[in-house]
Amino acid sequence: ATMPPLLAALAVAGRRGTLVKDVTVLEALAEVDTVVLDKTGTLTTGRPRVVEVHPLGRWTADEVLVTAAAAEQGSEHVLGRAVRGHALERGLGLPAASGFAAVPGEGVRADVAGRAVQVGRPDPDAAPGEPATALVRGVQEGGRTAVVVVVDGEPAGVVGLSDEPRPGAAEALGGLRRLLGEPEILTGDAPRPARVLGERLGLSTVRAGLLPADKVDAVRARQASGHRVLAAGDGINDAPLLASADVGLVVGEGAGALALEAADGVLTRDPLGSIAPLVELARRARRIAR
Ligand code: ADP
Ligand code: MG
Repeated sequence: ATMPPLLAALAVAGRRGTLVKDVTVLEALAEVDTVVLDKTGTLTTGRPRVVEVHPLGRWTADEVLVTAAAAEQGSEHVLGRAVRGHALERGLGLPAASGFAAVPGEGVRADVAGRAVQVGRPDPDAAPGEPATALVRGVQEGGRTAVVVVVDGEPAGVVGLSDEPRPGAAEALGGLRRLLGEPEILTGDAPRPARVLGERLGLSTVRAGLLPADKVDAVRARQASGHRVLAAGDGINDAPLLASADVGLVVGEGAGALALEAADGVLTRDPLGSIAPLVELARRARRIAR
């Protein structure tokens, strides 16, 4: 017996490393007409490295790093892992931390050696005269992600992290553009680093400074104007985005259980490059099935 076309397409997709949950996802994929992408871990490798540490006041760079790394001990975020990894690489021992809490799209807080430590995104409304602001700007000007370390309410330093675009990202985006129009980037990172990456990849629509709920609103707005939206994310802080899209695809590498649950499919190989072929496969299968 011959396999029904949608089921056959499901098998082909699986062989290519794009695992979709069932044939209804293929049907939805054949209908999508617009694509939104998360930045960190989706457009980029998701393996950021700490490239600069700027202390403030009487803090030293190593103290800032150790304090931030200690607070990030419970973090699953790629930025948290990078900060921790950098401190360990430098052979710095980490003090114990307690009371860890992660705020999606914002950062983490914890008590480190009796002090309240916050590590996270710079306040977008910070006054130009505030001590951390100039450092943050300098870091972001270079296209890097700036993270502010605050101890007992006072800024202690700024950490700059750099994350490379995925190999083949520009080409993959070209394929998506031909099928689904200009891809839109949605990111919780600041406008400058987002724009620098967008320019490198030839993207015109980059929306920055978004909280997880803002990403959902962006999808809903497109759906309200009649579009069917494909969203891809790395599964960190973007489970709501993946769930709200008509089709949500998660990059397999770092995805946790929550994101796998929220997504309609998993991209296990060449995550960016495999999306356009998957949409084409779904469109072809639907034509044959009819
Ligand atoms: P993206 O949309 O690019 O995937 P996120 O929504 O995960 O980014 O995070 C948005 C911003 O929040 C980051 O650019 C960073 O400034 C801050 N942030 C989030 N989690 C952490 C963390 N664990 N440590 C430091 N900063 C964080
Ligand atoms: Mg992300």
